Amino acid sequence: SKTLIKIDNLSVHFRTFEGRVQALNGINLDLNEGEILGIIGESGSGKSTTALSLLGLLPDNAEVTGSVVYLDKDIINSNDTVSDKKMRVKARRMLDQRLAEIRWKEISMIFQGAMNAFNPVHTIRNQIKEVFEIHNTFSDLSNLKEEDFIDEGNLRARANEMALEDIKDKESAEFKIIEDKIYDEMVEKLRNDLKTMSLKDKKRLLENNRMESSCRKAGFNPKFLDAYPHELSGGMKQRGIIAMALALNPKVVIADEPTTGLDVITQAKIIKELKGLKDSKTIRSMIVISHDVGVVSQLANYVAVMYAGRVMEYGEPKDIFVNPRNPYTYALMHSYPSIDATKQRIHGIPGSVPDLIDPPKGCYFASRCFMAEEICHREKPPLRNLSQDHKSLCHFDQIDEERYLNAQRYSD
Ligand code: ATP
Ligand code: MG
Repeated sequence: SKTLIKIDNLSVHFRTFEGRVQALNGINLDLNEGEILGIIGESGSGKSTTALSLLGLLPDNAEVTGSVVYLDKDIINSNDTVSDKKMRVKARRMLDQRLAEIRWKEISMIFQGAMNAFNPVHTIRNQIKEVFEIHNTFSDLSNLKEEDFIDEGNLRARANEMALEDIKDKESAEFKIIEDKIYDEMVEKLRNDLKTMSLKDKKRLLENNRMESSCRKAGFNPKFLDAYPHELSGGMKQRGIIAMALALNPKVVIADEPTTGLDVITQAKIIKELKGLKDSKTIRSMIVISHDVGVVSQLANYVAVMYAGRVMEYGEPKDIFVNPRNPYTYALMHSYPSIDATKQRIHGIPGSVPDLIDPPKGCYFASRCFMAEEICHREKPPLRNLSQDHKSLCHFDQIDEERYLNAQRYSD
């Protein structure tokens, strides 16, 4: 299948008072059309930095090397090192323009913690509307004239916009009939509604239809659009955020910690919502980021496990969750309780993430790894191709379970 996003040897450093923080170190990842790529890893492993790189939204103190290509467009500024200032400025301007074309229209993002960033003094409607307006989603409406509302074809097109997306996509004959009936009813209703309205009100109605359609796709009931953020549950707010991400019908949605801060029942509902987007083909390709293994395992068809700015293991869920070959993944999987083994003990991974200002020479996980040997501290591990789509960054290609059990015994 077609590769939508290709991340090639991407590294990011942040300049800080303490020094240069190495947030990403040579990331290679692909997102293919029709795939959900899951990214898991502990806090600080570089998940959000990866996501922000894809939209060119890293802060000014970031230094980026490597490349990110969306379809055939280069969307990373790797010209920062070009010595000619004029060339550099020109490259920067071209890149900004390219990114502006892609951001939200092609790739949109559900930002980490966004649902807590709603402005408390504005209704949800106004805040979602702002997203539409910023991205000129209503620009075609502003050109509409009175006669555009008389034409049958136009009315159908507008009714089409209002129709429930999940019905529209169904192919069976049965649904076709329902669909036609719904359209006929909508066209009729629209015709009646429009009769007495001013042109300005007509446009406003279409604007609202467009917004409400996004809301419905995200499972956000449009009747809550006029609520204030504090009047909504966390789950509803998150659906509002998802609606914003769907506003411009993007090809790819990046969801950064979409369920964090929600109770477990609401988490399950949001996961179902995201799955629904894929099943209804509203969004065919996604990147889902979470520190929660469960969230990623329920959604992804490919999984990348990150640690200290490197991808430690990449593979299909069966490789990562059932048969991990990298000791970090193995330890991570064993540090979570499994649903069917309630009595199994939960082991955290002892130790802490290495200093990213002065990272270790060899494997970044070596100081915490139950399998580490001298070479691990000395040399960067090779990226092993274990099978077609299964890769591991490790000096070893097999897990030594005995050593894991021994390490647990001594740490208890
Ligand atoms: P979390 O699960 O907590 O969201 P994450 O995997 O998303 O973590 P990132 O936010 O990508 O991690 O951060 C990676 C590293 O880069 C961390 O060490 C973080 O402190 C550092 N970092 C991120 N943003 C900045 C910044 N603007 N300036 C300096 N350092 C930063
Ligand atoms: Mg993050």
